[in-house]
Amino acid sequence: MKILICLSNVPDTTTKAKFVNDNTAFDTTGVQWIINPWDELALTRAIELKSNAANSIENITVITVGKNDAEPTMRKALAIGADDAVRIDADPTDAYFVAAQIAEYVKSNPFDIIFSGIESSDYNGSAVGGMLAEFLEIPSVSAISNFEIENGAVKITRDIDGGKEQLTSTLPMVATVQKGIAKEPMIAAMRGIMMARKKPLNVVAPIEVDALTEITNFEMPQAKPPCKMIDPENVKELVDLLQNEAKVI
Ligand SMILES: Cc1cc2nc3c(=O)[nH]c(=O)nc-3n(C[C@H](O)[C@H](O)[C@H](O)COP(=O)(O)OP(=O)(O)OC[C@H]3O[C@@H](n4cnc5c(N)ncnc54)[C@H](O)[C@@H]3O)c2cc1C
Repeated sequence: MKILICLSNVPDTTTKAKFVNDNTAFDTTGVQWIINPWDELALTRAIELKSNAANSIENITVITVGKNDAEPTMRKALAIGADDAVRIDADPTDAYFVAAQIAEYVKSNPFDIIFSGIESSDYNGSAVGGMLAEFLEIPSVSAISNFEIENGAVKITRDIDGGKEQLTSTLPMVATVQKGIAKEPMIAAMRGIMMARKKPLNVVAPIEVDALTEITNFEMPQAKPPCKMIDPENVKELVDLLQNEAKVI
């Protein structure tokens, strides 16, 4: 079996977002890039599955649509335990574009299980996994919180309102995963970091695809008013402010 992980290169979650080009583009100056947290959990689960010989997983590949500044993040995935990596050399202009690029690669390089994260922590579209399955005309299961392989068949659990749903799927399939798919993301060990330098990271040219959407404006939330400090002894003033200024009681 071969597993593909769709890997989004996202800003560190502590990044303070700023915008450029008349508020139409995210300012990447000084940004620390990381593996999208859900993709890191998908990679962890894939490595756990591969470590059980009964699952017969021969290869784990990570794929990113991005320019070469995504490569350090991809190397990190190789250090954690992916066997090889593919970078489709293009700016990911929208989810349709990303899914179309990955689908094109998969059509000539088939995989049995394709993991995507439930969303990217930057653009939060929750779109790529489903679109990819549609392009490939294969099953797609979303919001997966547990993924097992038993006798060559997949056993999937989804969290639904007030309970759990269990299902299976034919292969190949796209499995869109969420929190719970793995307990903690795996951390690269020194040996993995050394090995990652020699693992293949193939760069492929993108195909011609028009993005269907275009960001026209980003807007920051309104700045919070300054914090008012009140003497802990002065309960009367606190109650007065909560009642008459904040109007919450
Ligand atoms: C330079 C730049 C310019 C952009 N301009 C635009 C724009 O004009 N309009 C617009 O709508 N968006 C724009 N984007 C955002 C980009 O379109 C999104 O990264 C892309 O649409 C994926 O959507 P999402 O992040 O919402 O992914 P989601 O659908 O939320 O991601 C779900 C999963 O899909 C996979 N995935 C997502 N992105 C990638 C990727 N790049 N490679 C591999 N797997 C991936 C991951 O597994 C991820 O967990 C831009 C991004 C960049 C870096």
